[in-house]
Amino acid sequence: MGIKENVGKILSEIPEYVTLVAAAKTRTAEEILESLEAGIRVIGENYVQEAESVLPAIKGKCSLHMIGHLQRNKVKKAVELFDMIQTVDSLKLAMEIDKRAGALGKVMPVLIEINSGREPQKNGIMPENLFDLLESISDLKNIAVKGLMTMGPILESPEDLKPYFRLTRKLFEDASKKYNSSNIEMKWLSMGMSDSYLIAIAEGANMVRIGSKIFGPRYPYKQ
Ligand SMILES: *Cc1c(COP(=O)(O)O)cnc(C)c1O
Repeated sequence: MGIKENVGKILSEIPEYVTLVAAAKTRTAEEILESLEAGIRVIGENYVQEAESVLPAIKGKCSLHMIGHLQRNKVKKAVELFDMIQTVDSLKLAMEIDKRAGALGKVMPVLIEINSGREPQKNGIMPENLFDLLESISDLKNIAVKGLMTMGPILESPEDLKPYFRLTRKLFEDASKKYNSSNIEMKWLSMGMSDSYLIAIAEGANMVRIGSKIFGPRYPYKQ
């Protein structure tokens, strides 16, 4: 099946309130354009440089989300390029985004990435540190938290991701009760990928990030 059919099938399976982010790492501008013609409205990129290279082809046709780990020296560019950064996991990173967004006279929408598997080598904030981070971010003027994102561990069976999705949803709900201001509003719960999006939606996701199920098996990065 081609990209068009793949997108059509996924869109027909998921509820309307769920936003489908096409995870476009390694894909060409042509492939991304094909997904947009099939009804994709949000493209997710993992690297600032890759986003920059496809942007001329897709500008104005969709919104662009950063879904990969963001290095602090790339924040200035990221704030210019992206409509949302899904991977904020420290106060240092949030403060840099706030500063760079402020310089552009912009308020940057972000999600907080939760390390729901509590894996030491993984990105994302440990669950118990979320509320301290939100408290600190609530003082920043040029960053707006719009929800949470998680990946979860890599497991044999996507079914086994349920506890990690559940934990993230619980944090999302607790944070919704505590905060509802212009700069912290729990609107988006971004979880679920090609092999787990239906499980994630059943566990409360309203944003899913899908790559290979749209575009086919991933190309390796050129060295
Ligand atoms: C690649 C990627 C996805 C999509 O992964 P697939 O298994 O190809 O659907 C989702 N989220 C993030 C952060 C990714 O890097």
